[in-house]
Formats: sequence, structure tokens, C-alpha cells
Amino acid sequence: MEKIEKAQFRYNGGRGALLCSGCKKIMKTGDEFTEEEIEAIKGYSIIPPVYCLKCQLVNALNAIGKDWAEKTEVRDDIKYKVISFEPPFPQEVMDIVTSKEVKVLGSLSPDGKQGIHVYFPM
Ligand SMILES: [Zn+2]
Repeated sequence: MEKIEKAQFRYNGGRGALLCSGCKKIMKTGDEFTEEEIEAIKGYSIIPPVYCLKCQLVNALNAIGKDWAEKTEVRDDIKYKVISFEPPFPQEVMDIVTSKEVKVLGSLSPDGKQGIHVYFPM
């Protein structure tokens, strides 16, 4: 049987939450739901999975078979998940990296190659 990909919800103290289908981070809670999401959490309909930006980037990197690394870093008292990868930088990956919601730092890796480090607030 084919597995149906659908958005993941969780009840959080009586309130519904829409989760990232990759890392299970809470993307939205009840007050922010659209009508479609309210129908889906009640089980009346199915909506496609939702991914946070970090998981969108990881999915895009995996889809093209590109190596990447993940670490946790604290900067200015904010905790970040950092996804790092080296060139070449394909367009489908750069579309996510250039989003205003993330901070991007370029640097040289130990072997001298230019890399990109994308910071996602946790
Ligand atoms: Zn995620």
C-alpha cells in the first residue's frame, strides 16, 4: 500500500499544533490555522506535509545527493541549528538560503574551500 504523505498535527494541552514533518518542530498553533488546516486536524480532509525552512534545505540537499553537516551553535544568546555545505550551490538550494528568515555566513572550511553556513533560530 502506498504511504499517503500528509501534514502532521499534535494536540498540545487541548490546542492543536501543526508540526514540521521533518523535525517535528511546531510550525503553527490553533489560532493561526487556516480553514483547510482546521478541517485537516479534525480529520475531515488531508493536507500535504509542511516542512520548516531547515528541513526544506536538508530535503533539497538530500534530493541532489549533496553532503551537508548540522551543528548547534549559540550566538548572542540565541540558539541556532546550523546547516553547512560546500560549493557548488545549486539554485533550488540557494532559493531557500536567500530567504529572509535565515542568517547566512560564508567561510572557509579547513581544506580552504568556500562554504555556506545557514543559521536557523531554534
Ligand atoms: Zn523541520
